[in-house]
Amino acid sequence: MSDNINQPANQANSQKNVQSLTQPLTHDDIRNFVPPTHCLDGKTILVTGAGDGIGRVAALTYARYGATVLLLGRTSSKLEYVYDEIESLGGKQPAMLPMNLEGATYAEMQQLERLIDKEVGQLDGILHNAGVLGQLTPLEMYDVDTFAQVMKVNFTATFMLTQALLPLLKDADHGSIVFTSSTVGTHPRAFWGAYALSKQAVEGMSDIFTQETQNTTNLRFNCVNPGGTRTNMRAHAYPGENPMSLKTPEDIMAGYVCLMSDASIGVRGQVVELQPKD
Ligand code: NDP
Repeated sequence: MSDNINQPANQANSQKNVQSLTQPLTHDDIRNFVPPTHCLDGKTILVTGAGDGIGRVAALTYARYGATVLLLGRTSSKLEYVYDEIESLGGKQPAMLPMNLEGATYAEMQQLERLIDKEVGQLDGILHNAGVLGQLTPLEMYDVDTFAQVMKVNFTATFMLTQALLPLLKDADHGSIVFTSSTVGTHPRAFWGAYALSKQAVEGMSDIFTQETQNTTNLRFNCVNPGGTRTNMRAHAYPGENPMSLKTPEDIMAGYVCLMSDASIGVRGQVVELQPKD
């Protein structure tokens, strides 16, 4: 998906030994991954929007496979609930990071980086999952304040948080950053407005980060497109749809685990559809 960039020799040589695999996993391998029991042992993974929907299930799943999970979200009561769920399944003690991405400043995100460094000491992955739908309406009629809100939560805050946490991620042996896109992020569609545009921007950001880091670091940036999944957001977008016809977040977790585990070292700059249409 991305081209190599020319790297000055001294810069390339001064960085850590860059990992390259001759045969990285295919998208089918990622979707059908069967996670070994302890495949996330020793990893610390931050999940945004961890209080509900896909983010909640991803947080529980990462904990189940051995990760220490940092739960970031805007509703503390929901984070507390997930925290308790992780404790009751015997997972490593998680941490709650209440943050409203709509209003969060870059200074607060840098403060978060220092806090994670001091209290946890490492960060191996981020799942950027938090998102809002905004309006489903023609751009001509789109409320401009809602437009700005959707772009901030889905895209700008995602960029800011990634940049603020990069020092920790670069210190990890193989840091993995997973962004969440959508079918309308790959193929823009009428009436999907700011949501589609924000997801397109996320895909572009993942590609640019990949080009800028692949020759000098072990970081990997990828996007996941969960496909239609039974959550509150999906119900708002498709009120007439029978939710029982959809996969649950639990059904699509293989890809989420794979992209965080060392099995996906070498997978870079991909947009992985978890429910591709035939
Ligand atoms: P949900 O609406 O169920 O969950 C979204 C999560 O994001 C919630 O935990 C929510 O917190 C959090 N969130 C929203 N706004 C903010 C904010 N300002 N600050 C911090 N957290 C926030 O959505 P899904 O689980 O369905 O979606 C998860 C991701 O998957 C999204 O990025 C979405 O675009 C994407 N996606 C989903 C699809 C689907 O069919 N479900 C299809 C394609 C993509 P709270 O609970 O407190 O509101």
